[in-house]
Amino acid sequence: MTIKKQTSCADDFETDAISVEEAQKRIFAEIDPVKGIEKLTLRNCLNRFLAEDITSPINVPSHTNSAMDGYAIAAVDLPKDKEQSYQVSTTAYAGAPAPEAYKQGQIIRIMTGAVMPEGTDTVIMQEMVERNNNTVTIKEGHKKGQNVRYPGEDINKGSQILSAGRQITAADLGILASLGIGELHVFRKPRIAFFSTGDELRSIGDIRGGALKEGEIYDSNRYTLFGMLKNLQVDIIDMGVIRDTKDAIRAAFISASEMADFVITSGGVSVGEADYIKPTLKELGDTHFWKIAMKPGRPLTFGCLNNNGSKSWFFGLPGNPVAVMVTFLQFVQPAIRYLASGNIISPITLQATCTSKLYKRAGRTEFQRGIFEQTTDGKLQVKRTGQQGSGILTSMSIANCFIHLPMESTGVSEGETIEIIPFTGAI
Ligand code: AMP
Ligand code: MG
Repeated sequence: MTIKKQTSCADDFETDAISVEEAQKRIFAEIDPVKGIEKLTLRNCLNRFLAEDITSPINVPSHTNSAMDGYAIAAVDLPKDKEQSYQVSTTAYAGAPAPEAYKQGQIIRIMTGAVMPEGTDTVIMQEMVERNNNTVTIKEGHKKGQNVRYPGEDINKGSQILSAGRQITAADLGILASLGIGELHVFRKPRIAFFSTGDELRSIGDIRGGALKEGEIYDSNRYTLFGMLKNLQVDIIDMGVIRDTKDAIRAAFISASEMADFVITSGGVSVGEADYIKPTLKELGDTHFWKIAMKPGRPLTFGCLNNNGSKSWFFGLPGNPVAVMVTFLQFVQPAIRYLASGNIISPITLQATCTSKLYKRAGRTEFQRGIFEQTTDGKLQVKRTGQQGSGILTSMSIANCFIHLPMESTGVSEGETIEIIPFTGAI
């Protein structure tokens, strides 16, 4: 492979670029998950990351009970070879013991969830009996223990239910409530500060100076970043647009690092004359790398800011709107999840038949935007969205997946099976 060395934003290879996988590995190696813990009431723990292992203080269910509305009986008293009639002695409701003891020859009306009366071990569904006034007639063929739920059938006392690092789901809230657990220790939320850089940028709502002037554009990156961060259970600090001057960027770095665990910027990471991100990071902390063999998103900086002994990690994303989203989803999102929970969560990938011809050169990983769907025979197929330029943000909005083309791929013919990464709630 011939390698051309270039520093522009053209689609070329660079000898010192590292792979996506290597970059991800280095990021995880650098970051320490948050250590701060807070105690919250159960409902406030939804989607938060658990900071303790949870063992069950009780059996669920806690007592032997009926799984059906029906009639409780002792299996030894069931009809053997012909139907038999019984008197209904009393009714057992959920939440209280049966008012009368079980007597042979009689039967107890029982409701779902009611404790099995002493002496009974079997429930006949009400749909399976014939009832006349206070007499029920049951046919033969029932089995001992049917329609009965046993203590600990769902959860055994003392067993570990959830492990530290787990993200609490709606089902978990229900389980924890069923154990009577009303509060949990969870990790504190990571604090993420972000700002855009570029003299051409105007914030929406910024009416100073009237309409956009020639060469100005609205800042969209802060909105996509806000949207993607919002889904990650983090505290968001939006620092606005910072002018392309060394002093402004330096001041923003210092105040961001005082407030946040993570500082994210977009724009200014190339080597243009107004690109102050990299030199300022060098001055205030460390740069770990800044070129990745991927498209879009090649100029990307990862590093850290040292602020009086405390450390903030830093991601300098490219300025182009698609590159911002791709690099965020590939590097920043997994890093924030790791910071929040200590877990490395791999994205879900699927195989799909590609219905478009895709052009690509070997030597870099590409994340093309795709639309996948299920055909009537249940197979997945994917086509690429139209234009793939890193400024075409509509390609991200039309798409429902990335088409992941690995480093060595030299393109895809129609009908080939390829890997897709479906977008989840984060986009
Ligand atoms: P840069 O990396 O600063 O050279 O920016 C690359 C391209 O992305 C330029 O065309 C910028 O105008 C554009 N860009 C940079 N920041 C933003 C932003 N916050 N919103 C929209 N476009 C941006
Ligand atoms: Mg710029």
